[in-house]
Amino acid sequence: MSSEVEKAQTAKHEKHKETIFDKIIAKQLPADIIFEDDKCLAFNDVNPQAPTHFLVIPKKRIPTLDASCEDDKEILGHVLLTAKILAQKRLPNGYRLVINNGPDGCQSVYHLHVHILGGRQMGWPPG
Ligand code: 5GP
Repeated sequence: MSSEVEKAQTAKHEKHKETIFDKIIAKQLPADIIFEDDKCLAFNDVNPQAPTHFLVIPKKRIPTLDASCEDDKEILGHVLLTAKILAQKRLPNGYRLVINNGPDGCQSVYHLHVHILGGRQMGWPPG
């Protein structure tokens, strides 16, 4: 089992608890930030799985995609379009977006985030 899978299997889903991403949003923890506006933040992943690997997160604390609701439509759209704009600039040859949801989906940080991966040929199916 990879360490990322282990982390996902042991991560606690505590809906209202602060995660490391809240601390990054609040600038209490350093991150390699590549974009920020009033609704979202994008930063490089600390443990990259591809030559380019960054995350786009909503500033609103939504723990999982499962936990999102109708009211989150605008923010979800904004996060996705921001991911696309940043990816197009950096990865003209293509890229992959991933949202892990829950333990079997390999989610280890319970603050919704979109992974953007690229800079190499992706395989299919994903592991
Ligand atoms: P998940 O497995 O929940 O879909 O993805 C969480 C991601 O967050 C992982 O790829 C992990 O490397 C990344 N990550 C966890 N902690 C930090 C951190 O403190 N800083 C940054 N930049 N990335 C982090």
